[in-house]
Amino acid sequence: MSCRVKHRAFESQAGMYDLEFLYGLKKGSKKEVIAWCMSMDMIAKEYICPTFGEKMVLTEIDCSDGYAWVCRKFGVNEHHIKRTVRKGSWFSESKLTIPEVSILTYLWVKKTPNDWITDEMNVSEPTVVDWKSFCREVCVDRLVKDSKEKIGGVGMIVEIDESKFGKRKYNRGKRVDGKWVFGGVERGSKRSFFCVVEDRTAETLIEITKKTLSLGPRCFRIAGLLIIA
Ligand SMILES: [Zn+2]
Repeated sequence: MSCRVKHRAFESQAGMYDLEFLYGLKKGSKKEVIAWCMSMDMIAKEYICPTFGEKMVLTEIDCSDGYAWVCRKFGVNEHHIKRTVRKGSWFSESKLTIPEVSILTYLWVKKTPNDWITDEMNVSEPTVVDWKSFCREVCVDRLVKDSKEKIGGVGMIVEIDESKFGKRKYNRGKRVDGKWVFGGVERGSKRSFFCVVEDRTAETLIEITKKTLSLGPRCFRIAGLLIIA
């Protein structure tokens, strides 16, 4: 299943920031990594303390990222809160460093084979497989969310397919149940629809087809193609 939206987004960055740049980041200081992530809007530029709503302070601490958001107050409202700079970001809950995650993501965009990545990055094959599934799922989620207009119509051919996503050990440690995604791409225009389905019974798929496609008086399904006439 293609993943144009995310690919394009990352590729435009990849154009500016090539592998050499990312390796430089890996060898460079943690401060540079944080500054780059913030400038790219990949991590939050500020963080509000959940206790009293004041701005937390980016503080150098002994952790893999080198920095964390800290709020320390004494007296009546005494509290001491620390938050990782990764919260809610692409890097959240991974054991890899931020440059490592960036390199892995870059290599996924470039369709690099697993064995190349395991050698290059000194990570296990399950880690690579897991990251690749995660990247694909983020794309599928986006495609499902963006599927609003009906595609098809008389004279159109729609390539349809279904795939199971998410049946794996999440790289963030949680196990998630897989879900079936049903999708179609209109030949010629490349307009598409994607939706999550409960099951793959003929009834469910016909129902989804009616909702997402403009059908004609006659429709033929031949292999993975839906021909609307
Ligand atoms: Zn606070």
